[in-house]
Amino acid sequence: MKSKGNLIVISGPSGSGKGTVCQGLFKELDNLHLSISATTRKPRGNEQHGKDYYFLNREQFESLIAGDQLLEWANVYGNYYGTPRQPVLEAIDGGLDVILEIDVQGALHVKSKYPNCVLIFLIPPSRAELANRLKNRGTDSNDAIEHRLQWAESEIKKVREYDYLVINDDLAAATRKVSAIIIAERCRPGLFDIDLLLQKY
Ligand code: 5GP
Repeated sequence: MKSKGNLIVISGPSGSGKGTVCQGLFKELDNLHLSISATTRKPRGNEQHGKDYYFLNREQFESLIAGDQLLEWANVYGNYYGTPRQPVLEAIDGGLDVILEIDVQGALHVKSKYPNCVLIFLIPPSRAELANRLKNRGTDSNDAIEHRLQWAESEIKKVREYDYLVINDDLAAATRKVSAIIIAERCRPGLFDIDLLLQKY
């Protein structure tokens, strides 16, 4: 009776635990599809092309923009990041909920194009905690960490434009909250074929 999936956008500063929460969602829920973004940033650690991101050069990325193949794109920390459109629309049409793990600019852009999408903001409880997580991750220089903290500060100011705020002070609890949001959003009447339902009454 439910025909289409939801578009779920999860934002939060680098180090907020977005990636881990998203992985956790796949253990708790079925019918999910995680969108894989394209980026011009270089792979970190053991990130893989086609799994973590599509790692492209600038020309390749710009040709996706020119061909209108991105649902949204943004320049984050000096690199391009964008969401390939086709896989997202196909998954939604197939009844899957699609998760976009993208920055605030991208999220607000998606909301303006798809007002029914669900925006979830995930943050650690404080700047100090975020700084700790970035340091412990060990993948960024001090300069890059400072840059990310400043970026986080400016992103958090947009949180009122989101539908939900989840404070990640405990990974398991944060994952359960996001999962609960997704389950609740699946119960919106607008997603159902109500005529079909009424035939049964
Ligand atoms: P990172 O380099 O740490 O993987 O990601 C940096 C930022 O870019 C994060 O806030 C992440 O959510 C965001 N990001 C990743 N993919 C996309 C995308 O496709 N579009 C937009 N707008 N932001 C993205």
